[in-house]
Amino acid sequence: MKITDMGIWITNPTGSMNYVVIKVITDEGIYGVGEGTLYASEPIVAETLKVFRELLIGRDPALIEDTWYYLHRSSYWRGGPLFKTALAAVDMALWDIKGKVANLPVYQLLGGACRTGVVCYRHADGRDPVEVEDNVRRLMEEGMKVIRAQMGGYGGSGKLRTEPAHRPGLPSVVIYEPARYLLEVPKLFEHLRAQLGMEIELLHDVHEQLSPLESAQLAKALEPYRLFFLEDPVSPENKEGLALIRRASTTPIAIGEIISDRETWLTLFLNRWIDYIRIAPLHVGGITEAKKIMTLAEPFGVKSAFHGAGDLGPISQAAALHVQMAIPNMGVQEWTDFASVPVLQEVFPEPCRLVDGYARPNEKPGLGIDFNTELAEKYPYKPVYMPHIRRADGTLHGY
Ligand code: MG
Repeated sequence: MKITDMGIWITNPTGSMNYVVIKVITDEGIYGVGEGTLYASEPIVAETLKVFRELLIGRDPALIEDTWYYLHRSSYWRGGPLFKTALAAVDMALWDIKGKVANLPVYQLLGGACRTGVVCYRHADGRDPVEVEDNVRRLMEEGMKVIRAQMGGYGGSGKLRTEPAHRPGLPSVVIYEPARYLLEVPKLFEHLRAQLGMEIELLHDVHEQLSPLESAQLAKALEPYRLFFLEDPVSPENKEGLALIRRASTTPIAIGEIISDRETWLTLFLNRWIDYIRIAPLHVGGITEAKKIMTLAEPFGVKSAFHGAGDLGPISQAAALHVQMAIPNMGVQEWTDFASVPVLQEVFPEPCRLVDGYARPNEKPGLGIDFNTELAEKYPYKPVYMPHIRRADGTLHGY
C-alpha cells in the first residue's frame, strides 16, 4: 500500500471554531482521517501539513513509528506545538488506516480495553456561587461524576470588567486582578461543598493566570474542599514553581495542555510535581506519542486528564478516547459534546458519545469517525483569537 495524496481542510461549521482536518489517501482505496487544530494558529499548521504531504506521498502508510520520526526530523527545526500538531494529524490518519486494514478499532491495536468507558468531566460556570451550584447540579443530573467549577467565564472571578480591543473584530480586553480571584475562588468551593456535600468530584482551572506563590496560596486555601485537581496553576515557563505549590498543600495538581514536548514531561515526573497530565494526542504528536508519554508517567503514579475543550475537534476526541481506553493510568477526559451539535454531526459523521458520564470510541475499524469533505467546504475558515488580559493599570497580564 502507498500513500497517493493528502487532502488538507480548515473548516468552521459552527462559525466559532476552526478545525484543521486531513485525509490521507492510499492506492488501495482505504483512507485515514486526522486532525491538526491549533487554536488561533490553524492556517500555520495547514501550511506545515502541505510540506508534510510532499514527504508522505509514495510512502507505506503502515510505517507509523518510522513516519513519526521521519517527519519529526524532516526539518532542522524540531518539536514545538506547530510541528507536533501537524505531526499528530498525520499520526492519527495512519492509525485510522491501520485499524481499517486490520478491521479493528484503534484501541484494540494499542493493547485493548483497560475499562468499560472513560470517565469524563464537563464545565459548570456562573456569575455567582448559587448559579455555579445550579449548573453543577444540572450536570450531576445528567450523570457527570467529575465537574469543573468556574465563576465569571474566562479570567474567572478576577475579571473586573471588559474593554474594547484596539480595533473592531478582535475580542474585548479582560481587565483582571489576581487578588479578587484569590479571594473569590475559595468562597465558591466553600459554598459548593456546603450545598453539594464532599463526594461529587470537583475541579478548578487557574488558566495559568497566577504566580507560583499565588497558586500555592490558592491550593492551600482549597485543601478543605477536596479538589479532584487544580488545573494549570502555573504557566509552563514557571514549572519549577510547582515545587512551591507541592510544599504548601496536598491539593492534586494537573498541568500541561500547552506543553507539547516529552522532555518537559520527564522533568515534571522525576520531581513528582504533578498528579495529572493535561496532554491531548492532538498537541503532542498524535496517538503514538501520547501513549509513550503516558507510559513514561506510569512509574510516577501520574494519571491522564486529557485536554478536550471545544477547540479540540471530534477527530482529535476520538483519537484521545482510543488512547484513554488502552492505558492503565487513565484519570479523566475533558468532554465536549459534539454529537449534540447537528452541523458537527454532519461534517464529522459518528462522533463519540457520552453515556452516564462515561465516553467510548465506537467499535468501527480505525478511529470510527469520518469527515464529509463536501460539506466541510461550505464552512470556510474564519479567524479566531484568544482573549487578551490586562491588569487595572493597563499592564499586559501573564507569568
Ligand atoms: Mg485548562
